[in-house]
Amino acid sequence: MQIGGKQVEWYFKGKPGDGVYLRFWKDRWLGDTLFKDRWPRLYSLESNKNCSISDRISHSGTAFLLGPGWNVWPSTVEEISEMNDVNYMLNNIRFVGSKDVWKWDEEGSNHFSVANVKRMIRLDRNNNMTHLFKWESWIPLKINIHLWRAEMGRIPTRLALQRRQIVISSTICVLCDVNDEDCNHIFVHCGFAFGVWSIIRRWCKLDYVSFDDMEGLLKFYKYIQGPKWAKKLIRGIVMTTCWAIWNARNKRFLTTFLLKFKRC
Ligand SMILES: [Zn+2]
Repeated sequence: MQIGGKQVEWYFKGKPGDGVYLRFWKDRWLGDTLFKDRWPRLYSLESNKNCSISDRISHSGTAFLLGPGWNVWPSTVEEISEMNDVNYMLNNIRFVGSKDVWKWDEEGSNHFSVANVKRMIRLDRNNNMTHLFKWESWIPLKINIHLWRAEMGRIPTRLALQRRQIVISSTICVLCDVNDEDCNHIFVHCGFAFGVWSIIRRWCKLDYVSFDDMEGLLKFYKYIQGPKWAKKLIRGIVMTTCWAIWNARNKRFLTTFLLKFKRC
């Protein structure tokens, strides 16, 4: 779960007591960066990546230093430089001796409350609600859902499948066989879509139909001259047309796939 673009765990910061519970490299307990990211070369040499703070440090008089625990002893300039940094940092901290605890750490504030977390989640939700899509009551639910998913880029276009690490033979659009297939391409830039929108324009007797991307497509109805019901009508037609284009794409995809399958 994320709040404000950060994993919720980020808002908790460890306060070391005896250093037994908090992990030296993997828990955030000093500064804003995990030590494994701050000192990656040293971390790569670590023999126990999950070691606690007390596992990793040793006493030298009243000071603390990095103790032994390397797969390979640090030897390059970068590794020794990182080790000096860590030792300098350890020299400047004091352990209080009680148990390690987690504290809420929202921008330096230690004040945790359920109301505060709720406020942050609400703020986050509002920031993310920049979608242009509006539910249209007079067209079927499945078309509404389809457009809502398309606006968020959540329909299984070939590029979307590739991003999800699904192995596919090609990312090229099955309708035009020219460009990569994503939502903007299928519904806006594809030659097939262009032809369809031209027909829709003539059929609806519209003077001008132009949009550069999905955002423009979903805003298009706003620029229609006429009463509110006319805008509502055009919005529904745009949404239904997108549904029809997607179905045509699926039909073409299936036909191409079956042809290839028969040839094998
Ligand atoms: Zn295409």
